[in-house]
Amino acid sequence: MTMSRGVIDHVPLSTILPQASTADLEAVQRASRTVDAARAGEGPLEWEWSLAHAVFPGAGPSTPVVFGADVVVDAGGGDGLEFLLQALWTEDGRLAVSAAVNVACWCETDHATHDVDAIELAVGTGTSIGQAFEAGAERLVGWLADPHDADYWRDRAALPPRWER
Ligand SMILES: [Zn+2]
Repeated sequence: MTMSRGVIDHVPLSTILPQASTADLEAVQRASRTVDAARAGEGPLEWEWSLAHAVFPGAGPSTPVVFGADVVVDAGGGDGLEFLLQALWTEDGRLAVSAAVNVACWCETDHATHDVDAIELAVGTGTSIGQAFEAGAERLVGWLADPHDADYWRDRAALPPRWER
């Protein structure tokens, strides 16, 4: 599956979110800029989007992401810390906005990564895509102000800290 990449001004929002109102599309753009502002000095966020997922492609092995961004923090030496914000299709074909904090796993049993904090906001049940995206972006901005230290997040989730393998 091919994802296109670019800053928010290059994301064809009205094409990938054909059901969204103009006000909602503006809210998505505005919310994205608050994330850019929160990353001062690091340049605007690079988004990925898929024209093929403008409509629900059907349930499959992977989650169909309409568009999203992955803020990868350089945690050093094989460690990993990522903050994600995505508009995606749930298994039953509902649009949702997901925000998550993902860390590398240092358990005895290797799980690769863990989502240590996450919210998913369903679109359509009295919540527009603009409102859901604003809430997701607000959460992401909050996380970006927290320590960029993977062990901090693992500790919060009662996961073992990093150790030398
Ligand atoms: Zn683990």
